Amino acid sequence: MIIIKSEREIELMAKAGQIVASVFKNLKEVIRPGLTTAYLDSLAEKIIRDQGAIPTFKGYGGFPGAICISINDTLIHGIPSENIILKEGDIVSLDVGATYQGYCADACRTYPCGKVSDEAKRLMLITEQSFWYGIKFAKIGGHLGDISHAIQEYNEKNGYSLPREYTGHGIGTHLHEDPSIPNYGRANHGPILEEGMCLAIEPMVAQGKPYTRVLPDEWTVKMRDGKLSAHYENTIALTKNGIRVLTTYEGEEINNV
Ligand code: MG
Repeated sequence: MIIIKSEREIELMAKAGQIVASVFKNLKEVIRPGLTTAYLDSLAEKIIRDQGAIPTFKGYGGFPGAICISINDTLIHGIPSENIILKEGDIVSLDVGATYQGYCADACRTYPCGKVSDEAKRLMLITEQSFWYGIKFAKIGGHLGDISHAIQEYNEKNGYSLPREYTGHGIGTHLHEDPSIPNYGRANHGPILEEGMCLAIEPMVAQGKPYTRVLPDEWTVKMRDGKLSAHYENTIALTKNGIRVLTTYEGEEINNV
């Protein structure tokens, strides 16, 4: 069941969203070779808690970190660790959730660590662009499949693939609500989009084949072929005035298409 949010609820989610975005604004400047992912995690947790929110992922299903930090061929759900040290050329995805007064926001960015390859830059760019392209198709009265299809089309025409096991999702008082939002699909199919829906749309994009495996820690999802992967996500609200993106910060560089 898709839960429709009131304007008041969307304002609370927007507040949560600005807390998530503040983590990106801060950590983007901090990422550099030699830091551990545990250090980035501790900074993120402090930023979230200092603003009166809770890091949504901490303890979610037993997840040990405050945020997920996934490097290079780790697609998602990387566990922050003292043993994972950033190195020059890595691409680092930060998946961040914050819960504020009971309402959640969820977003992800993939950032370069130092100087990265042109291939890595292109993967990050296309992944982000596919989000912005996809939400052009998020229209009240349209179908959810219109968004999924657009994300799939944009990435595939650029030579990338989309792992199918992991999807975006509705979001509200719970991190994961209906509907699930695949990064592939058919236009004119799926649920009808309505005012008050809040959706976490999150292209997870592979440079190589789309097949993944989960490490014995039961969280870390890696690409089987060891090639790069990137992730970009925002929480959006469908309002009568159009799409409202809740998890970008003022002045953030956006690679729209
Ligand atoms: Mg999400």
